[in-house]
Amino acid sequence: MQKPQTIIIGAGAAGLVAALELERAGHAPLLLEADDRIGGRLKTDEVEGFLLDRGFQVLLTEYPEVKRYLDASALGLKNFRPGGHVHTRQMHFRFADPLREPAQIIRSTLSPVGTLKDKLKLARLGLNLRAKSNEDCFKGYTDKPTMDYIWSLGFSEQIVERFFRPFFGGIFLEQELQTPAAMFRYIFKMFGSGAAALPVGGIESVAKQLAGQLKQTDIRCNTRVAEVTAGKVRLEDGTELAAPGGIIIACPPDKVFPRLAGEPVQWKSTSNLYFYSNRRLKENRLINLVSDPTSLINTFAVLDEVAPTYKLKGQGGSLISVTLREAVTRQSQIGQAEQDLLRHSRLPNDSLTFLKHYEVKQALPNLNPVTFSYAATHSHVGDRIFLAGDHQLNGSLDAAMRSGRLAAEGVCSL
Ligand SMILES: Cc1cc2nc3c(=O)[nH]c(=O)nc-3n(C[C@H](O)[C@H](O)[C@H](O)COP(=O)(O)OP(=O)(O)OC[C@H]3O[C@@H](n4cnc5c(N)ncnc54)[C@H](O)[C@@H]3O)c2cc1C
Repeated sequence: MQKPQTIIIGAGAAGLVAALELERAGHAPLLLEADDRIGGRLKTDEVEGFLLDRGFQVLLTEYPEVKRYLDASALGLKNFRPGGHVHTRQMHFRFADPLREPAQIIRSTLSPVGTLKDKLKLARLGLNLRAKSNEDCFKGYTDKPTMDYIWSLGFSEQIVERFFRPFFGGIFLEQELQTPAAMFRYIFKMFGSGAAALPVGGIESVAKQLAGQLKQTDIRCNTRVAEVTAGKVRLEDGTELAAPGGIIIACPPDKVFPRLAGEPVQWKSTSNLYFYSNRRLKENRLINLVSDPTSLINTFAVLDEVAPTYKLKGQGGSLISVTLREAVTRQSQIGQAEQDLLRHSRLPNDSLTFLKHYEVKQALPNLNPVTFSYAATHSHVGDRIFLAGDHQLNGSLDAAMRSGRLAAEGVCSL
């Protein structure tokens, strides 16, 4: 027997997973997406022969929801190497993770990323967190700032400035590391247990793979929802759609659900620049961390060293993704960022061509506290209306997918 119509609003990772779970329970949901294509924040553009993700984004292979819903081999995941390449004003050096690459123990011991004590503490922290469950990484740390936590562990200023601030500043999209320590602990565990990877087809292929698993879902793009009320969705053009089976709001709810209009989601932004270098920059598949307060750059990565398919025509040279410290970039700063990149990469002058600037205003939700998970009915706001999206749990792809699953389980439980 046909189940009553359910509607999902937003075809990002959360909405797509919600659709998948509803299908598995025998529903044939309607998925409404305001944009001209699915994916939400998982978007990749083809620009001048390159794949450009909208903002530097990696897939952490250890995320439980990634393992649950994605076929890693079909995505053709290409891994970054563990460790990093640090650029200070005076020095450029690599550091390795000896727990992941035992052969690199000497490089790791000698690296000036921190003191010997720091390295021992780092190894101990990695081992401790790996032994904990994901929930336990969060417990007791859901609202304490990461920076306070790092200081409380006794790390030196050297390793804070050369590793923690640029690395986690790039992940949290804020330099002060005020994001709850639960996220630090969880992400540290994920990086330590699995890989940070790029899909060969760009980050959008994650969304495409989720959508490709949908068989009974009617996906309608270019369809913006204006308002959600009990059992009903009103589109921007005035059309009303009935949803007696339930509604999952998998987009920021304050814009469509009047009862939450006074509680807007707070966002963190990021600014991402792409450059093409006509010289190959061999960076050994490492993320580059900039520890230089005079530089506009926080991190950069040579994407084609990790995933050569980001250069669509197999051309020579390198594709470099640069994430800036500040989220807002004035046009005049692009030239300055190029100069900074030349300095850090030690590429010759005139080797870089600027390709594109992405300013992502709503990149990650600014949440405090954060949570790993909750009961499936937790996001029920009444009248068979459920909320999903990373803003419901914590700012990660893993959380977005989990929230979609839980919202769908909630609908099915009523
Ligand atoms: C630059 C950047 C870097 C990131 N790096 C990482 C990373 O390294 N690791 C990690 O785990 N996570 C990372 N993330 C976060 C991750 O991408 C997100 O957590 C995840 O994609 C969010 O999915 P979502 O479905 O919750 O939201 P979204 O992807 O934002 O989906 C919401 C969808 O709802 C649609 N929508 C909005 N309003 C309406 C409306 N009124 N009607 C219909 N549709 C509507 C939107 O168009 C959108 O498609 C990064 C994000 C960015 C932007």
